[in-house]
Amino acid sequence: LLQLYAPLNFLGSIYSSIRNALVDLEHMFGLLEETVEVADPARPVPIAARLHDAPPVSVAFRDVHFGYRRDREILHGISFSAAPGTLIAIVGPTGAGKSTISRLLFRFYDVWSGHVMIDGHDVRDYRQADLRAAIGVVPQDTVLFNDTIGYNIGYGRLDATQEDIERAASLAQIHDFIVSLPEGYHTRVGERGLKLSGGEKQRVAIARTILKDPRLLILDEATSALDTHTEREIQSALRAVSAERTTVVIAHRLSTVVDADEILVLASGRVQERGRHGDLVAAGGLYAGMWAAQDAATGPDQDVPDELPA
Ligand code: ADP
Repeated sequence: LLQLYAPLNFLGSIYSSIRNALVDLEHMFGLLEETVEVADPARPVPIAARLHDAPPVSVAFRDVHFGYRRDREILHGISFSAAPGTLIAIVGPTGAGKSTISRLLFRFYDVWSGHVMIDGHDVRDYRQADLRAAIGVVPQDTVLFNDTIGYNIGYGRLDATQEDIERAASLAQIHDFIVSLPEGYHTRVGERGLKLSGGEKQRVAIARTILKDPRLLILDEATSALDTHTEREIQSALRAVSAERTTVVIAHRLSTVVDADEILVLASGRVQERGRHGDLVAAGGLYAGMWAAQDAATGPDQDVPDELPA
């Protein structure tokens, strides 16, 4: 009988790990169901999608409280506003709630209380498809389709011509790289094609967003260090897409925060400090400490400039 027990125990442990995996899946679907709970209003307010057709939007959070689960509030009363065409940078440690703010702008979830406003209306007043068409996002890590690099850029706007695609690629500082490839815009990329570096992929995402021409841009800067040359190219590509456009950046780069019209320093779901770079450094608080630490880590040639370089 004892000899039988060992294999039964073994089967028992397999059973429990399968059961745990199923529970994990259930959790996942639970989260997905939460996401689809947001509903379109009966009489949606219209919103133009493209900057080409309407001016940049204003953005505001009014005393927003939100959590993913009922027993844990993540954002404890966030308020800020960004005038049309301005750039707002959100900085703060991992887990502070930065990505949560960007998800609420997209209305992936509904807030517990308060308002997320775009163009003077609560995001719940818009049809979700319209809202998402008006927002462009450049993520940290871009997924490329197994198709040509031209297709991957053109995906930003399905009626784009080859000329439009090349113009966007030029603004995103990736055109020269593309034409240097033997097959140019027809080069296949992705899992089964040419592997692009993180910096190149991000520039493809920027070109896509330039084509989409959204009225609000959400940008999640890469945390990983880039070499100085790539960094410069990406910064100038980002300037091309964020100029004139209302932009919310989850910022990790000194050059971005120096440019920002307002910086929100987020920690534990609260805005701890806010202001422009120079004022925050002068205030000698949390933000000043963060940049002093970064300076020490990156060396003296990363001096914090007082003025925006021309
Ligand atoms: P940041 O972007 O500043 O690193 P996040 O907004 O991603 O922070 O996360 C804020 C908090 O919310 C963290 O404690 C994180 O664990 C939690 N969180 C993020 N996404 C989810 C989710 N989908 N479900 C449950 N909790 C989440």
